[in-house]
Amino acid sequence: MSDSLVKKVHQVEIPVRLDIPAVVRRLRVRGGDGRFDEMMTELAEKARAVARPRAVYMTSIVRCVDREHVDVDGVRFTSRVLGRLFHDGETVYPFITTAGQELDKLKFPPRDMMMNFSLDAIKTVILVSAVEYLADYLKEKLVLESVAFMNPGELADWPISQQQPLFDLFGGEEKQIGVSLTAGGAMRPIKSRSGIVFPDATGFLSCRLCTQFKCPGRRAAYDEIIVKEFMS
Ligand code: SF4
Repeated sequence: MSDSLVKKVHQVEIPVRLDIPAVVRRLRVRGGDGRFDEMMTELAEKARAVARPRAVYMTSIVRCVDREHVDVDGVRFTSRVLGRLFHDGETVYPFITTAGQELDKLKFPPRDMMMNFSLDAIKTVILVSAVEYLADYLKEKLVLESVAFMNPGELADWPISQQQPLFDLFGGEEKQIGVSLTAGGAMRPIKSRSGIVFPDATGFLSCRLCTQFKCPGRRAAYDEIIVKEFMS
């Protein structure tokens, strides 16, 4: 992307939404244990007090190159699924969201394993909620009837290495929200997610194509028919 085409990057402050039953499901423990519930309440209060989830997004135009390549504002992505989902000339919304660096300041000794597992699950739930909030926010702000999103790394078809071109689109503006990409392709803070929100009237959910069968965040069952449809 040439300098003359550098797009405006918007920042969104995201309210902390912490669904404790969702945390408990992720931990695969039963609620109702007094000590556990007390610990979870205490942790949730601490997390709510410091968490500052936020996101950056931009408005971008797609050019479909061939069956497995699309250009987004001139930056090339390789994915059959994106090639199938996106339409030439349509507007999409690349984003980077984070649960925030502030949560990483909450620390417990390594021997407090349950405390540390629970905190990790809390951070994940705050991040997942932040992505959902951003999708709803874009829907409302841009008057889009329905949207879906894809994140690099969820599907073998759009691997984690595709985060680099996504970050290239933002041209360093992701620093506004304290997110960076390491040389190895991991995001810092770890509880961050990048992706593209796009208009979708079909109810697309990447989970239907995803083989991470044990994922506790699964939103729909794996569907071989849909996989064949997208990968053929
Ligand atoms: S099952 Fe869904 S939420 Fe879990 S990794 Fe796969 S696409 Fe993501």
